[in-house]
This record gives sequence, C-alpha cells and structure tokens, in this order.
Amino acid sequence: TQTQSPAATRTFLLLGPPGCGKGTQAERLARHFAIPAISTGEMIRGEIKAGTELGKIAAGVTITGGLLSDDLVNQIVRSRLSKDDCRGGFLLDGYPRTIPQAEYLAGLLGELGLPQPLVLHIDVPLDLLIERTCNRRYCPQCGAIYNLSTHPPKQPNRCDACGAELKQRDDDCEETVRNRLAAYERSTAPLIRHYSGGRYVRVEGSGSPDEVFQAILRALD
Ligand code: ZN
Repeated sequence: TQTQSPAATRTFLLLGPPGCGKGTQAERLARHFAIPAISTGEMIRGEIKAGTELGKIAAGVTITGGLLSDDLVNQIVRSRLSKDDCRGGFLLDGYPRTIPQAEYLAGLLGELGLPQPLVLHIDVPLDLLIERTCNRRYCPQCGAIYNLSTHPPKQPNRCDACGAELKQRDDDCEETVRNRLAAYERSTAPLIRHYSGGRYVRVEGSGSPDEVFQAILRALD
C-alpha cells in the first residue's frame, strides 16, 4: 500500500558537469531541507563496507574493473532510498545515468510513496569550467595547492611556503576539460530530454557558491 508523502517532502536529482560545484550545492541543499545528499559512489561503498549481498557483488565487479549493471545499481539505490532517513526526501547525485535507471527510479518512488524528483541542472559555460580547473597549481617541493584566480601565490608562480616554482599537473588541461564536458553532455543529453518536459530546472552555475545556492532556492519557489 502507498502512503501519501507530506507536501514538504523533497526529492531532488542533481545534474551538472564535472567542475560545476555540484558537491558544494548538494551539501547546502541537504542542510537547508534536512535531507540526505546521496552520491552513487558513497552508496556503493556503503554496501561494500556493510558486507551486504549487494555489496559483495559490487565489490567483485569493482575489483575486476568492470562496470556495475543497471540492475545492480538499481538494487543498491532501492536499498539506500528505503532507509528511514529518506522518508522526508533526499538528494541524489550521479543517479540515474540512463533512461532505464530513470524509469526504475520513477517506479521505486511510487512504491515508497515519495514524490517524483525535481531535476536540478547546474549549468556552467565551458570557458568558466576551463578557468576554474586549469588555474590550479601545485608546489612540487612541499605539496601546497594554489589557484591563480581564487587563491594565488603572493609572488607570481612561487610557493608562499618554500619558494619553489609552481607546476601545473595537467599540460593539456583545456583539452581534458573540453573532452570531459563533451563526454558528460553526450551521456546526459538523453536524461535531460527525458526529464525536461516535467519538473526540470536549469540554474546558471557561474556565480559564487552563495549566488548559485540563492539561484537554486529562487528556482524552487
Ligand atoms: Zn612549497
């Protein structure tokens, strides 16, 4: 039998490219609405750590470097969303990744008496993703981390702590970010099409974390 969820119950899916600040916004939303923020990675590690049957299967697949099937991921999501702390809602990051997973989730939420999700898509232009990611520098001597735009060294390209010359980890950073974004867009385009007719909100993610969070709250009104 289905139970009617209270109007305040919030179920969110968070979408956004690598480097969009999703992790930060997930934490803030979770705190704001007093719901758990659940990432696929954490869910899978949780099952493995707890030594459940699903965890054992997942561990076997992970050790051999394989990909978890839709069916296995769905079962892990079912196990997690059935826990008591999800009764008042939840925020999912990294699931669903495919249309069959999205369809499975819709059915599962119906069974659990939870509302269908609101899809929050944090959008950040490519140029900004490149700037954020490719401005990282590190000190090869002491390991200190800098960011040329948000946390620059006092002297150009010199470590504040030890004076060594700073290095960039990835020589082809721009190319890497470009490829990563293209791969992300290819894989999420069908999901966005799937959800865009319904409860789907796109939020401009180029501001500061505070500005983006406020934009999300406004969009939810
Ligand atoms: Zn240093």
